Amino acid sequence: MAGNILLVDDEQTTLKLLKDILTAEGYEPRPFNNGEMALRSVMVEPPDLILLDVRMPGMSGLEVCRLIKETERLKGIPVIFISGAIDTEDKLKAFQAGGVDYITKPFQKEEVIARVKTHMELHRSRQELVRAENALRKSEQSLKIAQAVAHLGHWAMDALTGETTWSDETFRIFGFEPQGIAPSYDALLRVIHPDDRERVTRHIEQTREGGDFDIEYRIVLPDGRMRVVHGKGVLVRFPDADRRPEIIGTVQCDNEVIGVIQDVTTRKEMEWRLEHEARTDALTSCVARRYFLEMAHQEFLRCRRHGGDLSMLMLDLDHFKAVNDTHGHAVGDLTLRKLVQVCRAILRQEDLIGRLGGEEFAILLIETGSERAFEVAQRLRDAVASAEIPLETGVPLHFTTSIGVATMKAPDAGVDAMLKRADQALYEAKNAGRNRVA
Ligand code: GH3
Ligand code: MG
Ligand code: MG
Repeated sequence: MAGNILLVDDEQTTLKLLKDILTAEGYEPRPFNNGEMALRSVMVEPPDLILLDVRMPGMSGLEVCRLIKETERLKGIPVIFISGAIDTEDKLKAFQAGGVDYITKPFQKEEVIARVKTHMELHRSRQELVRAENALRKSEQSLKIAQAVAHLGHWAMDALTGETTWSDETFRIFGFEPQGIAPSYDALLRVIHPDDRERVTRHIEQTREGGDFDIEYRIVLPDGRMRVVHGKGVLVRFPDADRRPEIIGTVQCDNEVIGVIQDVTTRKEMEWRLEHEARTDALTSCVARRYFLEMAHQEFLRCRRHGGDLSMLMLDLDHFKAVNDTHGHAVGDLTLRKLVQVCRAILRQEDLIGRLGGEEFAILLIETGSERAFEVAQRLRDAVASAEIPLETGVPLHFTTSIGVATMKAPDAGVDAMLKRADQALYEAKNAGRNRVA
């Protein structure tokens, strides 16, 4: 273990002797015979250790040492004093000035080597510790920043004692200042939406008994706002200091459940919106084709199981192409909206209206047999015929619809069969002159 050692002594023979001893040991000694020059050299190129004579003409060793210890960047360098004085007061002053050790002249070669070696090693391990601490601090800070950017928090809970820690971002996700409350399992449960508590508890307990969890749940912030978070956790064992922690299946001693938590509210809201958009017809805000067919089929199956009537109406605006051609597409759109409004005003809450495409709509009448379905269809036809779309000309637009009616029959395999019959009936209504129910 080589090292750069500064030697300072006004006696040429001592300097030479020390230089030879240290060179033989593999060190690189830099000899100086006065304090001023030595101090300048320390400033320019800090050594790993300094052997410093106490009494010198000009600047004394004590003064050199004091100045070094006052300089932030140099004060860690170990200084070993050398002096002929057997005076204990001198030794005391040397330690007060910041020296780490003291060698009395005349010295033994072995003593010099042993003291230098000891302090060099001490100094090096202290430097390594500082470096490791700095690296750790830096990595902790990077992790904090990364977690804040990703809105990702982490937490750990002792699987046996339940002792819990939360990262700063976990506090923030839960709506608290970092370290704003005492983290605990109970504190977590209090944050969770009451309706989701049992499910989350079950998942965490499951992890304590082995396995991992991956769930989404709602939390309620201290200000009352609701957020959705995604939590994942695993059971971890920390074998010993120099081995990597392992993810394990069952609780033993010293296990922790370690989890991450992420606020996914924005993503969830986007999913909900997209889902709503996919299910809703943008122009008329009634249910879109695919979702209507799904819902209608569910209702069909329900009726099949529990009995009851179910009817389907199919509507198609009459001569709608002419409405577009004469009054423009915008008025055509208004007509489609008006049709849905008029139907909604007549239908019950539980009936389902869907836009199958273009100017064609279907209505599922829940718990409705053929006779009543026909009546409803007649009322719809009448209401549509008497509806008006105000136009700039002052003369309002009137429009009509043809309606085909079908009712669920025992041999029907699915809702498609009803739809097909309703479509046939609609065709008849059109052929019979339009603005009618078939
Ligand atoms: P019929 O009485 O036989 O049903 O005649 P029709 O003119 O209503 O039927 P056709 O199928 O010939 O024309 C339907 C028209 O509906 C053509 C199309 O441009 C129009 N249409 C379809 N979707 C929309 C829409 O979203 N907005 C508007 N303004 N028009 C639409
Ligand atoms: Mg039409
Ligand atoms: Mg059509």
